Amino acid sequence: MKQAVMEKPGSIRFETVAETPPGPGEVQIRVRQIGICGSDIHVWHGSHPFTPYPVIQGHEFMGTVEAIGPGVDTPPPLGAKVTALPQIVCGQCNPCRKGRFNICENLRVRGFQADGCGRELYNIPAERLVILPDDFTADQGAFVEPVSVAVHACKRAGDLAGRNVVVLGAGTIGNLIAQVAKARGAAKVLITDVADYRLDVARRCGVDHAVNTSRESLEDATEAAFGPGGFDLAFEAAGVEASLRSVVKAIEKGGLVLIVGVYGKPPVVDMSIVGEHEIVLAGSMMYWREDWEAAVQLLASSVSIAPLVSRHLPFDEWPDAYRFIDANGPSIMKVMVDL
Ligand SMILES: [Zn+2]
Ligand SMILES: [Zn+2]
Repeated sequence: MKQAVMEKPGSIRFETVAETPPGPGEVQIRVRQIGICGSDIHVWHGSHPFTPYPVIQGHEFMGTVEAIGPGVDTPPPLGAKVTALPQIVCGQCNPCRKGRFNICENLRVRGFQADGCGRELYNIPAERLVILPDDFTADQGAFVEPVSVAVHACKRAGDLAGRNVVVLGAGTIGNLIAQVAKARGAAKVLITDVADYRLDVARRCGVDHAVNTSRESLEDATEAAFGPGGFDLAFEAAGVEASLRSVVKAIEKGGLVLIVGVYGKPPVVDMSIVGEHEIVLAGSMMYWREDWEAAVQLLASSVSIAPLVSRHLPFDEWPDAYRFIDANGPSIMKVMVDL
């Protein structure tokens, strides 16, 4: 079988290796499609602080069940469409003992600190598997992972019904948070970015208000969109200091700001506003299995992904996919690799 090994930043070697049958408790998946995300690009550039090389990338994918190893209690049907959670957790640390496996003290993620799905055949523990509906497209299957990020972030915010919500950053994750918040009953959702293309994609996905904050301030935009109702919930999915600072100032007193973005350098926030306004700053990290199950439901019903898929490239051209993303930055969204 063929696999893609990133030997060092900017260099992927395709190699043919012997097929390994699934081990005890494992299922073998024939990988059909892989989505590329922002973290993968950081690994390509050598700017992901926690990824050693060589590494097989890939953590957003759709495949089919090819073979079942010994000792799998409830084996999935052969040929079933599946995807899988990429986390490897210790089960022993304090967060794990509290059931919060996504923040395991010894967390490793396939595609980063362990090998991912960038290969024709992928063996993983059966308990990581998520079975998809038969009528799912490969795009839908590859979107379960990023939608789960959005589901988990929305869950961290509590009950969304009837609330006005601001999402900063209209990249894939911001877009999906806006859509999931709406599906979870948010009243109005306003999304911001500095790239008109991403805002246009958000509008096509049904987001109520899409605002370019390089032309309009967040205060003016939220006042126009929400009026006296204001907003008490925001998701910072841009990973940009200016965006975080602006929302801490603009959100209603007592509001909740969920941090989903990844910051290149530690942002500076005016903590006197946080203190005096009783603002809650909270993090959101990856997801739980129940978030994946909810993501499958949402992809089958209300979450729209067609406007987010910019291009498909064949497996052999994975490095070109990174070059395409680098060259087109803010005017594209998700790029897929087909096997
Ligand atoms: Zn990802
Ligand atoms: Zn742990």
